[in-house]
Amino acid sequence: MADRENLYGRTRSELERAVGELGLPAYRGRQLYRWIYPRAVTDFDSMTDLPRAVRAELAKHYSVRPPPVAGRHRSQDGTVKFLFGLEDDNKVEAVYIPDHPEDTSSKRAVRHTVCLSTQVGCPLKCTFCYSGTVPFARNLTVGEILGQFGVVTRALLTTTTRVNVVFMGMGEPLLNSEAVLSALAVLTDPDGFAVSPRRITVSTAGLAEELERFAEAAPPVGLAVSLHATTNDARDRMMPINRKYPLEELLAAARRLPVPRRRRITFEYVLLGGENDSETDARRLARLLIGIPAKVNLIAYNPWPGSPHRASTDEATERFLGILTRAGYTASLRRSRGDDILAACGQLAAARHL
Ligand code: SAH
Repeated sequence: MADRENLYGRTRSELERAVGELGLPAYRGRQLYRWIYPRAVTDFDSMTDLPRAVRAELAKHYSVRPPPVAGRHRSQDGTVKFLFGLEDDNKVEAVYIPDHPEDTSSKRAVRHTVCLSTQVGCPLKCTFCYSGTVPFARNLTVGEILGQFGVVTRALLTTTTRVNVVFMGMGEPLLNSEAVLSALAVLTDPDGFAVSPRRITVSTAGLAEELERFAEAAPPVGLAVSLHATTNDARDRMMPINRKYPLEELLAAARRLPVPRRRRITFEYVLLGGENDSETDARRLARLLIGIPAKVNLIAYNPWPGSPHRASTDEATERFLGILTRAGYTASLRRSRGDDILAACGQLAAARHL
């Protein structure tokens, strides 16, 4: 089975090409595409609008293999972490986060978020992030990225149209731009997973050059920049990538992003007690973002075994939030979710807790 080429992860045009090589017309590729992604069918024999001979021909050359689930953990708050076992034995995680987990009586539609990984481990080594302690192994393939989404939504939801997708799992999406762009094409395609680009956010540690290129090439998804510090000194210490792309360069790139995107760039800021959570930091942050249509997402620090930082106090957090709000920014505090199963931001480290 594994010797047959895997079609999971192929884009629509790649599937059209694949069936073309078998002498089949392009529309057979489109049919295949709709079976593989929105309908999550992996067995050619169940693809009932394909003639029997076509199914047999496909099965001779190909198989459809989304990444298999190797483990599933449910948090008290309804968050579910999926562990995937990849074909080369690497492991990666994705997280499902329901928005109103306790309130099943509500008539309001429950909002869902799926958090996807883009790499096995991460080469960036931010000091506060557990994923950074996992040795970087490789980029995920398009199929491994899409498969996290396909498998998680298939297991837990009836439709994918009202799901939010955040590229905030393990890894740095902009170090794997090509695969992320292909995954976005299938995610947002009405014949694919049909997720609106407005519901998708790609988060970066701040690769300024890649960010500009990515914004040009991607559908109009939300962009988030992990800022976390207001001076180069502090940021150099927390995020080694800052030595390559210092604050002024990163913010200049953010200012240059194409106009529709500039309406709303999210700046993430993880509050580390006594390190980056002073009033001075809050004021400096407000000043740094002048001229950028920004919203600020403060993140409560999620500790992990042996982590070298501590969370901010509630007072420091409120004070920080207040300064930003009074400066005219939309700022919110992201609650920690799934931290009892190490599924919260910065806690994914598949290889570490097997
Ligand atoms: N590499 C990308 C995406 C992955 S991290 C990036 O850096 O943006 C997703 C978010 O979680 C980032 O803002 C990251 O800085 C934050 N994060 C990492 N470790 C964390 C921790 N221990 N507690 C809270 N947030 C954390």
